[in-house]
Amino acid sequence: MIMRFFIKTFGCQMNENDSERMGGLLHSLGWEKTDEERKANLIIVNTCAVREKSEDKLFSYLGRLKNYKRKNNTIIGVTGCVAQLEKDKIFERAPHVDFILGPHNYHKINEIIRNILDKREKLVDTQWQKEWPELSEKHVLRESQAIAYVTIMEGCNNFCAYCIVPFTRGREKYRPFWSIIKEVEQLAQQGYKEVQLLGQNVNSYFDVQEGKSFVDLLKEVNKVNGIEWIRFITSHPKNFTKDIAHTMKDLEKVCPQLHLPVQAGSTSVLQRMRRGYTREEYLEKVNYLKKLIPDISLSTDIIVGFPGETREEFEETLSLLKEVEFDNIFSFRYSERPYTLASRMDDNVPYEEKINRLIELQRLQKEIQIKNNKKKIGKIFKVLVTGKSKKDKNMWTGRNIYNQVVNFKGNDLKIGKFVNVLITDIGPYSLRGKQVK
Ligand code: SF4
Repeated sequence: MIMRFFIKTFGCQMNENDSERMGGLLHSLGWEKTDEERKANLIIVNTCAVREKSEDKLFSYLGRLKNYKRKNNTIIGVTGCVAQLEKDKIFERAPHVDFILGPHNYHKINEIIRNILDKREKLVDTQWQKEWPELSEKHVLRESQAIAYVTIMEGCNNFCAYCIVPFTRGREKYRPFWSIIKEVEQLAQQGYKEVQLLGQNVNSYFDVQEGKSFVDLLKEVNKVNGIEWIRFITSHPKNFTKDIAHTMKDLEKVCPQLHLPVQAGSTSVLQRMRRGYTREEYLEKVNYLKKLIPDISLSTDIIVGFPGETREEFEETLSLLKEVEFDNIFSFRYSERPYTLASRMDDNVPYEEKINRLIELQRLQKEIQIKNNKKKIGKIFKVLVTGKSKKDKNMWTGRNIYNQVVNFKGNDLKIGKFVNVLITDIGPYSLRGKQVK
């Protein structure tokens, strides 16, 4: 009998890559991936705890899975950050869950499943691991055939006041340098053209054994034949040095695109957030980068309504957006997370006010993006084809060097190929065009 698994992923690219790694391990034991929950013998929900909303989404999704349990006796597991933190709450609110696996133990997925199949007992493994669990490259079942995620570090030592990550992923641990390079070389052989180096704080990457820094890593990845574009996420403004900026400029494969989360535009809020930089220091880095790499495309994260945020402080965030003119932002209303420093602060910005600030911020950013994107009409971009457009099957979709979505008309294309696209129209979140020679 063929055993099938389905993985539902909440959260960022790192969670997606963790799901790809679990999928790869299951696949190596003969499990088949399915895109339909109803056909699965095993459903894994890989969770994110960064925002309260993602936790709510998890519990509503788990509620839906009860039916599959009842009809098919499907094995249901919860993995990732919420699993690490809330094991008792999960079993209490969703007794149909069979196992819980924290983010330090993904590599044990097959062992856990075997035990469940043998004994059908509920299992929990949220043990902390100090070492990097080495997995073979073949143990990754990738979603994309063009862009590959490569996790290089995990955890964070920064303890920003609002952030739960150090309590779920733990302190920073770095993947061995040789192992990252080996994976990138294998990806190149498989035809991947772009790699995205992932971690909560990639700029602080350091392999103690080999004495290699993040800059060394970029230089080595840049040498891998076949890989044409390199990106990395996430950078912390505090750890983003001039040395990294110059490396980005000098290495031809590193894309002129950077996600640099500012979180707030007011120094007093940044201090309360324990971010380790001021508004002026952030802007100084941005201006330095813009001078060094004039076509750099910047994106950021913003939290509105952090405890104590006044109208004036919020307006400083608006003015920072106007000054930097980011090409993209990810914005959220503050929500309290357990164990964090901010959870002991007075969450005194009313809910409606947080929503209103979020709407105001997003409206402004939309105008900025339209203005930025309009400048691209009539230009030709090299685009990495990632597939067919979800909205219109007659159109292809891909990414340009700035990581922008480009939907376009084209002929005889293949995923993973580069094509030239003339931009004919834009929206706030994507570009449209047609393939040209
Ligand atoms: S840098 Fe701050 S926000 Fe980012 S993962 Fe670390 S603690 Fe969280």
